[in-house]
Amino acid sequence: LIEIKGLKKSFGSHTVLKDISLQVARGTVVALIGPSGSGKSTLLRCINLLTVPEGGEITVGEHTMAFSGKHTRLPGDRVLSGFRAKTGMVFQHFNLFPHMTALQNVMEGPVTVLRKSKAEAEATARALLTKVGLIERADMYPDKLSGGQKQRVAIARALAMQPSVMLFDEATSALDPELVAEVLGVIKSLAREGMTMILVTHEIAFAREVADQIIFMRDGVVAESGPPEEVIDNPRNDATRAFLGRFA
Ligand code: ATP
Ligand code: MG
Repeated sequence: LIEIKGLKKSFGSHTVLKDISLQVARGTVVALIGPSGSGKSTLLRCINLLTVPEGGEITVGEHTMAFSGKHTRLPGDRVLSGFRAKTGMVFQHFNLFPHMTALQNVMEGPVTVLRKSKAEAEATARALLTKVGLIERADMYPDKLSGGQKQRVAIARALAMQPSVMLFDEATSALDPELVAEVLGVIKSLAREGMTMILVTHEIAFAREVADQIIFMRDGVVAESGPPEEVIDNPRNDATRAFLGRFA
């Protein structure tokens, strides 16, 4: 479903992603782990085209984009927003629209980007808020919701765009410990339903439980990848072992 070939990204003279290649099969969950600054967020942002890479190729479903420095020609707005909608992104800090209720937050993308009718968008939004356990909070504004509830609204909002893959960037690391489980529970139920997902996470135990593939990044390269039984339980790479040792 997702294929990345030779992806490169620099900020000034600092090369943050060096020739990243990876594949994510439909219906599988990939966990991206690695030290701070290794390029995990940058990689997710490239897949969503929030950041434009300078080299390599990204395929999501039937769309492929090739990047070649300043000669890269991005597609028109319509294709671009379609591409973005296919990759639902959930951030550490929720990024909900503060002046909209939970329900309005979830309806916004389908109405403005997908051109759904209000009635249809509302029906979908209510179903998604039910799914994340928040239908009784539908009319509340973000500042009245807990961090865990805001994050579940953010997940519902991304799902409302009918993405083919969900990208989570440390979705639980800004939450109080007692709120982490409710968000991980939603992610786990999406995994059970066969949603394709890429998770950047520091929750190693959760990664081991939910991911089909673990990718360990270090200094802008994939240092090691494979099933959790290999990468987490029997890492071959010294850097992976040193990194995981901090969580043991
Ligand atoms: P963390 O675990 O701390 O979130 P990360 O693996 O997600 O780290 P990135 O956020 O991808 O790391 O950052 C990789 C490197 O790129 C860092 O050195 C960072 O300072 C740099 N970087 C990221 N975004 C930008 C930017 N917009 N401009 C300049 N440098 C950036
Ligand atoms: Mg990051």
